[in-house]
Amino acid sequence: MREGRPILLLGPCSAESVAKVLLTCSCIQAFAPHAVFRAGLWKPRTSPHAFAGVGEEGIAWLVQVQKEYGMPVATEVVTPEHVQLCVEAGIHHLWIGARTTSNPILVQSLADTLQAINNPAITLYIKNPINPDIDLWIGAIERFRKAGVTNIVAIHRGFSTLYKGEWRNAPMWSIPIETMSRCPDVPMLCDPSHIAGTTQGVEQLAAEAMKIGFDGLMIECHHDPSTALSDANQQLTPEQLQRLLEKLPTYTPHAIPDTTLVQLRKQIDEIDDEIWQLVARRLEVVEAIGEHKKATQMPILQTDRYDDIVQKRIAWAKENGLSEELVRTLMESLHTESVKRQL
Ligand code: PEP
Ligand code: MN
Repeated sequence: MREGRPILLLGPCSAESVAKVLLTCSCIQAFAPHAVFRAGLWKPRTSPHAFAGVGEEGIAWLVQVQKEYGMPVATEVVTPEHVQLCVEAGIHHLWIGARTTSNPILVQSLADTLQAINNPAITLYIKNPINPDIDLWIGAIERFRKAGVTNIVAIHRGFSTLYKGEWRNAPMWSIPIETMSRCPDVPMLCDPSHIAGTTQGVEQLAAEAMKIGFDGLMIECHHDPSTALSDANQQLTPEQLQRLLEKLPTYTPHAIPDTTLVQLRKQIDEIDDEIWQLVARRLEVVEAIGEHKKATQMPILQTDRYDDIVQKRIAWAKENGLSEELVRTLMESLHTESVKRQL
């Protein structure tokens, strides 16, 4: 995490009326005055029967929020026209939604528009694409960078997968973590609302993101979630949001590791040395087996043997406090490399 307080974007999924955005903002401002107030005007919904947002009409409502409560407002832009309308009205925090990031032609048209507008006051938040494609996400970041947008922030909102697990959108933490290391100058926020899909998971995911070292959070909040016109299941009440923020773990980034950390890292380096030497030795034996299979005209793939190894290791792992997932992931990598070597 970078220095300073976490970046927060808080507010309803959609702006529903001027009275409602003013009410929600007044609640949020009382406990998070430094946050950016979020509300969607144009909603790219999956179903044509779902509420698609109030559109242009809501711009004046957000401008009023900004004036009355002194909080900057953020909204989602999908087309160049949305960008023009928002910037002309003085809305400078704009986010690109997951469905838009997935479309490079649309992303390029938004980048061209921002390049022509050339307003350094704009902050652009780029959500990950709906599919777990890190290059598509980084590609979008690069298109805006190339267009001269200087204030770019990434938002991790989870990934759509065929098999629904615990969450509405799978967190797949390794993707935002890899994005952070490939784009170290781009702050990374987490949107636990769209990952969780229900209020229960939001607090846990928000805390996990902060522990990992994310720079902030985008969280949906509605004054009366059960009546919300979109994403009713995942929006927190202002009271729930306040409690979540109060409990949030905060970490001060240390630029210089202390002696404890240096010593522990030394141990890790030594263990890694041993692991890699063993991996290299294992692959030498794999190659010898490969030669033998070739000489005796035996096929490389022996699924019974592989399943047997994996099952034995899983049983051992469980007794020793390691997860089945870890065994499967490591064994799959080792096995793929072994088959390649024998080929
Ligand atoms: C939203 O923020 O309300 C939204 C539609 O998000 P996403 O693009 O992540 O689905
Ligand atoms: Mn939403």
